This record gives sequence, C-alpha cells and structure tokens, in this order.
Amino acid sequence: MEIIAKIFNCNYETYKLFYKDAIKKAFLKDKIIINENDIKIQIDNLPGDTIQAQRSPSGRHSRTITVIVDGTPKYIIGFSNTGYDEDRKKESDNGGRQYIYGNSDYHSNSFMCQGINKIFEYYYDTKKYFPNVKLYFYLLDIGKKSYVDNLSNNLTYRELYTIGFEILNIDDIPFREFYKLGFSREEYGFSYEYISFNKFANDLAYISSKNSSNEPAYLKCIDFNYDIDEEGDEDELYDYDFKDLTNTQYIYTFKTLGAQSYDNFLAMWTLNILAEKEDKNLKFEFSKEKFNFRLEQPDENVKWTEDFPDTITRLFEKIGISIKYETSEEVRQQFNRELVQYEKAKRSGKIRNQELFKNNLRAKGLQTKCYLCGCEVEEILEAAHLWGVADIKSSGSSKINKVLDIDCMKNLLIDDAHSGEQFYKKYILVNSGDNGIWLCNNHHELFDRNYYCFNSEDGKVLLKADSDDIFKIYMSLSEYDKLPQNILTECTKVFLNERQKKFNGMEE
Ligand SMILES: [Zn+2]
Repeated sequence: MEIIAKIFNCNYETYKLFYKDAIKKAFLKDKIIINENDIKIQIDNLPGDTIQAQRSPSGRHSRTITVIVDGTPKYIIGFSNTGYDEDRKKESDNGGRQYIYGNSDYHSNSFMCQGINKIFEYYYDTKKYFPNVKLYFYLLDIGKKSYVDNLSNNLTYRELYTIGFEILNIDDIPFREFYKLGFSREEYGFSYEYISFNKFANDLAYISSKNSSNEPAYLKCIDFNYDIDEEGDEDELYDYDFKDLTNTQYIYTFKTLGAQSYDNFLAMWTLNILAEKEDKNLKFEFSKEKFNFRLEQPDENVKWTEDFPDTITRLFEKIGISIKYETSEEVRQQFNRELVQYEKAKRSGKIRNQELFKNNLRAKGLQTKCYLCGCEVEEILEAAHLWGVADIKSSGSSKINKVLDIDCMKNLLIDDAHSGEQFYKKYILVNSGDNGIWLCNNHHELFDRNYYCFNSEDGKVLLKADSDDIFKIYMSLSEYDKLPQNILTECTKVFLNERQKKFNGMEE
C-alpha cells in the first residue's frame, strides 16, 4: 500500500508537525493500522507568498491534506485555523511579509469555522470523481493558549458532528465551555451530535446573544392554525399554545455580512438536518426585520442583505441542500399577517396575540427553555406573561400611561398611526417580548396561580409565605432559583415589578 500525503506548500511548516498523527487516526477510523513512516509527502505549490497561497487564489483550499492510497484519494483532512502558524513565522523571520493579526506578528486565530466552506468545496469537488473519499477534520493549537475550546468553536464542532463529519482529535480537547451550552457528554453517551432542533436553536441563541454588537439570530414561528379570534384573554389561566407543532413554520433570521456567512452556512446546514429529522417546516430569512410593524412601512434603517456570497450558494448546490430563502414578497405577507391580526384584535377587544408575543420573546435571542427546571421539550414550553394579560386589560389609562412614561418603556411605543389608541398601548404592553419568560407548563401554571413570583430586582424566586411543604419540595427540585441575568432588562424589571406588586398584595 502506497500512502501519499499531499500538503500545500503554504502550510507545510505547520502541518509537518501533525500530519502523521492525523493520517494515522484517519486510517484507524477504518480499523487500519499503518506505519506512519511509510507516508510519503507530496508538496503542492500554490502561487504567491504564504498569505496569498493560504488564501488560495486558485480556488483550492490549502487547509487540507489529501491522503492518496495507491493512486486514489482516500481521505481529505481539513485543519482548523491556527494561532501558531509556523509558515507565517518562517516567512516573517526570513524578512518576508509581516502579518498583523491581533497582537501578534504572524498569528491567525484558532477558529474552525472561518473559511471552512473552502474545505467542503474541495471535498465535494474531489468526491465527484472519487465518490469513496472521506472527509475528516483535525484541530490545531490544543493545549496552547488559544480559542480551541471556546463557545463558538464548541458549537462548530457539534454542528460538524450533527451534519455527519468527525474530528479526528476531538478527544484531546478539554471542553471547559461545553456545560454552558447545557451539554453534558455523559448525558448523551459521549455523542457530540445535537439531539434536537430546539436544543440547537437554543445554543445558537445563547451564543448569538453573547455578542452584544450583533442583533441576535433567532427563530420566528408562524402557526397556520393560529387564529387571534380564538384567543381568550379574559381568563388568565387560559393559554393558547402551539402544542400541535405540525402546522408551524420556523423562520431562522440571520445575517450574511462578512464572517457571519461562514457561521450561518454551518448553522443553516445543521438546522436543515435537524428540521428534516423532526419533520419541521423550516425557512430562512435574511437580516433582522425588514418591515417595521408599527411604522407600517419598510424600515429604512435596516440593512438588507440580498444573498449569501456566490461561494456559499455554489456550495449549497454542491452539497445538494435546497435552502429556501424568504423573498421580500413573503416578508410583506407576513407583515400583513401582523397588521390583520392587530385589526382583528382591535375589533374584538382581545389584546393577547400569543404568536406575536412568542416571536417578540424569541427576537430577544433568549433560549427557549424553562427558566426554572431547564426543560427544553418544545411541546410543553410556554411563554408566560409577567404583567398578566387580564391585569393590563383592566388597568385604567392613567396607570397604562404612567408605566409607558418610564424612561426605558418609552421605546416600546413608536409614534405612529395607532399610538394614540388606548387599545394599542395595551396590545403593545401585553405582547412585548420584555413582558415574557419561558416556563414549562407545570411552572407556568403555578406562576399564574401566584404560588411564587420572581423578585424584580434580582430575579430570585419568591415563594408564597404559607406554601405547603409539598410545593416547597417541588420548587426546591428546580435547577435554578432565579431568572438568568440576561433576561432582566430594564423593561422586564418594570413588567416584573407589576407582577410582584400583585403577588405581594395577595400575600397581605
Ligand atoms: Zn419547568
């Protein structure tokens, strides 16, 4: 058996330290033990200096090693970016181009995702002629001061496993950050794959909300069974919920500016696979909101992203994924849906719009899980109102105006055609994303029956003073004893304060 490792010249200094281990591990996946000294090297030259070649103007990606066995490509191994690029260092040391990245002279970064599309493109191009070729990944910088096990890379690794690709040296990673994604390897039998659509969407939301300069990516849900006329906002305990998810459409909203397109390429591929498994109707939408509901017109301040860059759309074709994009006409229809709902609501006097409320809550980029027990089973998750629907509805106009006059609350109401209407003010308050939290149906029911509340200052759980022991025991079983801090926005504190006043009133 003749084994040739084809390595690109611009990465040779770095990859020569790892190729033997990587190739040995790839063969082991097929239960073949090789003598690493039998591997012959073939250097493939790309034009230009190191950086030009690494950026691969020829269109081939240099971050790969192709393993050729008896003349046929058997494995392609894609490498992560490295912060310890020996090739750039060598070039710098020899008086060549100094590459400035961050604080270092020749470093790049350790993110797996950046440029990963080219690894896939190279793989799918090769596969066309050699259908049995396999793609694996290999991580650099393990054990060094780098980002190799940070949150965003963790997500990438798990995405790769979910779409069906393995990382040869994943077991060498100390996953310090995994627990933050609510992931325990023990729990799922050492699998890195995502086990549910909602779980993955939650991790996406969590990571996206970490980056405060970004509008969070989120999932919007449209339920075609939903009819606002069937809402019953008189009874606080009645709750319309999407128990039947079969007629629900999920719309993932995202951006494709710069490096986000690489992140979203993988996120969309993963969402697509999980949606297919769970038979979910999934669509994608660019940018944030293209229409401002309250202004009833396209929002001039929102940046429109027309499409992915060509490189990514081409790749989706090669992979064979049909990604349905939301067109502007469809967005307009959805916008109309919200307007029609508002008009209907106004006619019937029903101020609760559970679909809008949930989507506003989702738009905050918060995880869809019970904030007490951590439950992520979509069928039993509910969006709970902090300031209750019935309480808002029965409040007089001076009360409503007073709350809306609080500094942070002024943003909720945009001056438009409806802003003078008392009904509109209540509608906005009831359905504001800041007026909601996710709870499982058990915790929601107990919350609405005022068995407990959350402190509006720190989000801590407050139990009813005369609670039964059995209730106290149930509450003590919860994973958390306070709301996550990122939920407690200034507006949420205002809503929660109204809830707490009622809770305290019932205590007296
Ligand atoms: Zn719960």
